[in-house]
Amino acid sequence: GSEQSGSLEVRGLRVTFDGFTAVDGVDLTVGAGDLRFLIGPNGAGKTTLVDAVTGLARATGSVRFDGRELLGSSVQKIARAGIGRTFQTAAVFEELTVLQNLDIAAGAGRGIATLLRQRATVPESVERALETTGLTAHRDKPAGTLAHGQKQWLEIGMLLVQDVRLLLLDEPVAGMSHDEREATGRLLEEVAEEHTVVVIEHDMDFLRSFARSVTVLHAGAVLSEGTVAEVRADPRVQEVYLGH
Ligand code: ADP
Repeated sequence: GSEQSGSLEVRGLRVTFDGFTAVDGVDLTVGAGDLRFLIGPNGAGKTTLVDAVTGLARATGSVRFDGRELLGSSVQKIARAGIGRTFQTAAVFEELTVLQNLDIAAGAGRGIATLLRQRATVPESVERALETTGLTAHRDKPAGTLAHGQKQWLEIGMLLVQDVRLLLLDEPVAGMSHDEREATGRLLEEVAEEHTVVVIEHDMDFLRSFARSVTVLHAGAVLSEGTVAEVRADPRVQEVYLGH
């Protein structure tokens, strides 16, 4: 709705590694509640852009989240501001159950002893995340025994319980089966009802079904932006991205 927060405004973002410019003056506006896909060939700068937004990569320019400047802030401070992120390899506690993983994420910042103590009741946020991610029936399984797709959904669930308003997901459907991809698409649509979501993705078929808007990066810069149909029709996109 109109009161939803979680808007991202990136201006003139630049990241260099030893004189090599990986992100070259990117402007990117993602409105609250958008489900934006970030595409582009390998090496286009997608992951580095997300690294810069989350404080992992040093950058110049401006990164505003709900109007507040975050560039130069620590990874921890940016996470506390409400920006959550996943990596291509799911980072879950394999030995702990699904429920314990969510519980720990929900209590991030509290003492580990408190977190590991058996709780009489499951927090509401954890119940909701179990439901949203379709993991309710698996709550007592060690996360290490989950299927690849389920681990990715658990990781998204771990962001949902943390009061995150913007989720940045790095290739969440990589390595997934067709059915897992479809389920992930529906999960992202549901998450985007209450959050802003930015997804790095390669699979054009997946994009076609689920993206609300697309930004195409090439050589560290924004090449094209619009609906799936608009960017697919853009000759510059066809040349660098779809042409091979
Ligand atoms: P994408 O995610 O679109 O595949 P990346 O953001 O991973 O692209 O990489 C963009 C460019 O920056 C690539 O040329 C890559 O080799 C380079 N790069 C990324 N991280 C580093 C780093 N830590 N040091 C040096 N170069 C890097």
